[in-house]
Amino acid sequence: MTLSLNCKEAGDPVCTHTMYGNTEEELLANAKKHGIEVHGYTEETWNEEVSKNLDHFRKLIKTS
Ligand SMILES: [Zn+2]
Repeated sequence: MTLSLNCKEAGDPVCTHTMYGNTEEELLANAKKHGIEVHGYTEETWNEEVSKNLDHFRKLIKTS
């Protein structure tokens, strides 16, 4: 099973990058890496964002 989350669907106006993972934990780790590398988050601001929006992100995760 592969989990995926699309950046645009998660709220970014332009980025269409899709992140993947075999588990939610792996997916969120990849999303964090992408957020830090591409969207200018720091470890701290990312963790803050995720703690506020985790339920929202979970609803957007697709499984295939
Ligand atoms: Zn992105």
